[in-house]
Amino acid sequence: MKAHVIEAVNGQIREEFESSYIYLAMSARFTTMNLPGAAAWMRQQAQEELLHAMKFFDFLVRRGAEPRLSAIAQPVVTFERPIEAFEKALAHERHITACIHALYDLAQKERDYALQTLLHWFIDEQVEEEETATGIIDSLRLAGETGQGLFMIDRELGQRQAAPAEGEAE
Ligand code: MG
Repeated sequence: MKAHVIEAVNGQIREEFESSYIYLAMSARFTTMNLPGAAAWMRQQAQEELLHAMKFFDFLVRRGAEPRLSAIAQPVVTFERPIEAFEKALAHERHITACIHALYDLAQKERDYALQTLLHWFIDEQVEEEETATGIIDSLRLAGETGQGLFMIDRELGQRQAAPAEGEAE
Protein backbone atom coordinates (compact mmCIF):
# COMPACT_ATOMS: atom_id res chain seq x y z
CA MET A 1 0.00 0.00 0.00
CA LYS A 2 1.12 3.54 -0.67
CA ALA A 3 2.30 5.45 2.39
CA HIS A 4 -0.24 8.25 2.16
CA VAL A 5 -3.09 5.78 1.66
CA ILE A 6 -1.99 3.96 4.83
CA GLU A 7 -1.89 7.32 6.60
CA ALA A 8 -5.43 8.11 5.45
CA VAL A 9 -6.71 4.74 6.72
CA ASN A 10 -4.95 5.39 10.04
CA GLY A 11 -6.80 8.70 10.16
CA GLN A 12 -10.09 6.87 9.70
CA ILE A 13 -9.19 4.45 12.51
CA ARG A 14 -8.89 7.50 14.77
CA GLU A 15 -12.23 8.87 13.50
CA GLU A 16 -13.98 5.61 14.38
CA PHE A 17 -12.43 5.43 17.87
CA GLU A 18 -13.37 9.08 18.35
CA SER A 19 -16.95 8.24 17.34
CA SER A 20 -16.99 5.48 19.94
CA TYR A 21 -15.74 7.91 22.58
CA ILE A 22 -18.43 10.49 21.70
CA TYR A 23 -21.24 7.93 21.92
CA LEU A 24 -19.90 6.51 25.17
CA ALA A 25 -19.90 10.02 26.66
CA MET A 26 -23.49 10.47 25.45
CA SER A 27 -24.37 7.16 27.11
CA ALA A 28 -22.95 8.44 30.39
CA ARG A 29 -24.95 11.65 30.08
CA PHE A 30 -28.18 9.74 29.38
CA THR A 31 -27.58 7.62 32.48
CA THR A 32 -27.37 10.80 34.54
CA MET A 33 -30.60 12.02 32.89
CA ASN A 34 -32.39 8.82 33.97
CA LEU A 35 -32.92 7.63 30.42
CA PRO A 36 -31.60 4.04 30.60
CA GLY A 37 -32.88 3.08 27.14
CA ALA A 38 -31.08 5.93 25.39
CA ALA A 39 -27.99 5.18 27.52
CA ALA A 40 -28.05 1.53 26.40
CA TRP A 41 -28.58 2.59 22.77
CA MET A 42 -25.57 4.92 22.86
CA ARG A 43 -23.46 2.28 24.58
CA GLN A 44 -24.34 -0.14 21.80
CA GLN A 45 -23.46 2.51 19.24
CA ALA A 46 -20.10 3.06 20.95
CA GLN A 47 -19.46 -0.68 20.73
CA GLU A 48 -20.27 -0.70 17.00
CA GLU A 49 -17.79 2.11 16.36
CA LEU A 50 -15.04 -0.01 17.91
CA LEU A 51 -15.89 -2.73 15.38
CA HIS A 52 -15.61 -0.14 12.60
CA ALA A 53 -12.17 0.93 13.85
CA MET A 54 -11.07 -2.70 13.98
CA LYS A 55 -12.26 -3.36 10.42
CA PHE A 56 -9.80 -0.73 9.20
CA PHE A 57 -7.14 -1.92 11.65
CA ASP A 58 -7.40 -5.52 10.45
CA PHE A 59 -7.45 -4.38 6.84
CA LEU A 60 -4.06 -2.70 7.26
CA VAL A 61 -2.64 -5.73 9.06
CA ARG A 62 -3.82 -8.07 6.31
CA ARG A 63 -2.25 -5.81 3.68
CA GLY A 64 1.08 -5.88 5.50
CA ALA A 65 0.83 -2.29 6.71
CA GLU A 66 1.19 -1.17 10.32
CA PRO A 67 -1.77 0.55 11.98
CA ARG A 68 -0.66 3.63 13.89
CA LEU A 69 -2.84 4.81 16.73
CA SER A 70 -3.07 8.49 17.57
CA ALA A 71 -4.62 10.59 20.33
CA ILE A 72 -8.38 10.73 20.61
CA ALA A 73 -9.99 14.08 21.34
CA GLN A 74 -11.95 14.52 24.55
CA PRO A 75 -15.65 14.27 23.71
CA VAL A 76 -17.66 17.37 24.55
CA VAL A 77 -21.27 16.37 25.21
CA THR A 78 -23.22 18.96 27.10
CA PHE A 79 -26.75 18.40 25.91
CA GLU A 80 -29.77 19.12 28.09
CA ARG A 81 -32.47 17.61 25.85
CA PRO A 82 -32.36 14.09 24.38
CA ILE A 83 -33.08 15.40 20.88
CA GLU A 84 -29.89 17.49 20.98
CA ALA A 85 -27.84 14.32 21.46
CA PHE A 86 -29.34 12.69 18.39
CA GLU A 87 -28.98 15.88 16.36
CA LYS A 88 -25.30 15.91 17.32
CA ALA A 89 -25.07 12.22 16.46
CA LEU A 90 -26.57 12.92 13.03
CA ALA A 91 -24.18 15.81 12.40
CA HIS A 92 -21.30 13.60 13.47
CA GLU A 93 -22.38 10.76 11.17
CA ARG A 94 -22.60 13.21 8.27
CA HIS A 95 -19.01 14.17 9.04
CA ILE A 96 -18.01 10.48 9.06
CA THR A 97 -19.81 9.97 5.74
CA ALA A 98 -17.74 12.80 4.25
CA CYS A 99 -14.55 11.17 5.60
CA ILE A 100 -15.49 7.79 4.09
CA HIS A 101 -16.27 9.41 0.74
CA ALA A 102 -12.95 11.30 0.74
CA LEU A 103 -11.16 8.03 1.51
CA TYR A 104 -13.01 6.38 -1.36
CA ASP A 105 -11.96 9.18 -3.73
CA LEU A 106 -8.36 8.59 -2.66
CA ALA A 107 -8.67 4.81 -3.12
CA GLN A 108 -9.99 5.40 -6.64
CA LYS A 109 -7.29 7.91 -7.48
CA GLU A 110 -4.57 5.57 -6.24
CA ARG A 111 -6.25 2.51 -7.79
CA ASP A 112 -6.35 0.71 -4.45
CA TYR A 113 -9.07 -1.76 -5.42
CA ALA A 114 -9.08 -3.69 -2.13
CA LEU A 115 -9.65 -0.50 -0.17
CA GLN A 116 -12.50 0.43 -2.50
CA THR A 117 -14.18 -2.90 -1.78
CA LEU A 118 -13.80 -2.44 1.98
CA LEU A 119 -15.25 1.05 1.68
CA HIS A 120 -18.37 -0.19 -0.11
CA TRP A 121 -19.45 -1.71 3.22
CA PHE A 122 -18.81 1.59 5.00
CA ILE A 123 -20.65 3.64 2.37
CA ASP A 124 -23.75 1.47 2.92
CA GLU A 125 -23.26 1.59 6.69
CA GLN A 126 -23.25 5.40 6.64
CA VAL A 127 -26.57 5.49 4.81
CA GLU A 128 -27.96 3.37 7.64
CA GLU A 129 -26.36 5.48 10.39
CA GLU A 130 -27.83 8.71 9.04
CA GLU A 131 -31.22 7.08 8.46
CA THR A 132 -31.31 5.71 12.03
CA ALA A 133 -30.37 9.02 13.67
CA THR A 134 -32.91 10.88 11.52
CA GLY A 135 -35.61 8.37 12.51
CA ILE A 136 -34.97 8.87 16.23
CA ILE A 137 -35.01 12.67 15.86
CA ASP A 138 -38.36 12.39 14.02
CA SER A 139 -39.78 10.15 16.76
CA LEU A 140 -38.73 12.58 19.48
CA ARG A 141 -40.30 15.48 17.59
CA LEU A 142 -43.49 13.53 16.99
CA ALA A 143 -44.01 11.73 20.29
CA GLY A 144 -42.73 14.53 22.47
CA GLU A 145 -39.55 15.18 24.34
CA THR A 146 -41.02 14.83 27.80
CA GLY A 147 -43.43 12.70 29.79
CA GLN A 148 -45.06 9.60 28.39
CA GLY A 149 -43.80 10.10 24.82
CA LEU A 150 -40.20 10.27 25.96
CA PHE A 151 -40.74 7.33 28.33
CA MET A 152 -41.95 5.20 25.42
CA ILE A 153 -39.16 6.23 23.06
CA ASP A 154 -36.60 5.52 25.77
CA ARG A 155 -38.04 2.05 26.26
CA GLU A 156 -37.91 1.44 22.52
CA LEU A 157 -34.29 2.64 22.29
CA GLY A 158 -33.41 0.20 25.06
CA GLN A 159 -34.56 -2.69 22.90
CA ARG A 160 -31.84 -2.14 20.32
CA GLN A 161 -30.17 -5.41 19.44
CA ALA A 162 -26.42 -5.91 19.54
CA ALA A 163 -24.60 -5.56 16.23
CA PRO A 164 -24.02 -8.85 14.42
CA ALA A 165 -20.60 -10.36 15.04
CA GLU A 166 -17.77 -9.70 12.61
CA GLY A 167 -18.53 -11.24 9.22
CA GLU A 168 -22.25 -11.75 9.79
CA ALA A 169 -23.10 -8.24 8.61
CA GLU A 170 -21.56 -8.79 5.19
MG1 MG B 1 -18.53 4.33 12.26
